[in-house]
Amino acid sequence: MFRFNVYQGHPVRAAFSTRSGGVSEGSLSTLNLGLHVGDDPNRVIENRHRFCGALGIDAETLVCGEQVHGNRVAVVGRSDLGRGALDRASAIPLTDALVTADPGVPLAAFFADCVPLLFYDPGQHVIGLAHAGWRGTENRIGLETVRMMQERFGVEPYRLLAAIGPSIGACCYPVGNEVRIRFAAAFGADAGILRQTVGEAWMLDLWAANRLVLLEAGLQPENIELAGVCTACHSTQYFSYRAHNGQTGRQAALITLE
Ligand SMILES: [Zn+2]
Repeated sequence: MFRFNVYQGHPVRAAFSTRSGGVSEGSLSTLNLGLHVGDDPNRVIENRHRFCGALGIDAETLVCGEQVHGNRVAVVGRSDLGRGALDRASAIPLTDALVTADPGVPLAAFFADCVPLLFYDPGQHVIGLAHAGWRGTENRIGLETVRMMQERFGVEPYRLLAAIGPSIGACCYPVGNEVRIRFAAAFGADAGILRQTVGEAWMLDLWAANRLVLLEAGLQPENIELAGVCTACHSTQYFSYRAHNGQTGRQAALITLE
């Protein structure tokens, strides 16, 4: 599993899973944590128990959003424990980002190339977790998450410790003209997040785009950890939607307050 340096020494447990150590088979081998990719749900739940167990967390308490590539943020608490943990129907509907101030409420989200954004405020003891694919990045889900933490809990963005987890890098993420135009409109053509290769092909840097979003939200550059691990380059270690042509499992990002 991948651990984040930025949270070391803080009362927070945070990690990102890899492919290894689970019971799923074929293109989902072995630690598939996604319930929506055609896997046997019993295997997924066993995998979730294994990953959470390694972190000392009860998998049945996970709180998960439905993940629809939107930018809606939900504040959750102890009354939401277990939502989305064992089935998808009980997940927080139409939600790609979660925030909580309650200790022992583990936030989880699932990924295969999309960008995990993790947040912890050591001042107010609040955590957040967002799922940022290209749509969520374009719609600044990271900024929406920080705003929710500010509005509901008085978090000061300059204190936030954030992590951009393993996900697809600019090295492996060609996008078409439509996406290029949308990102140029959303961030400016000179933001350094698009690089032209040959012809109409452009490489999109979702890490740089999300970093810009976090800086815009008021975070300090030195408080943002970039994992810098491309899931497509390392597709034997990580599930990658692009590298595996859509036939793949899901990693989880997990963060909980102690
Ligand atoms: Zn790559």
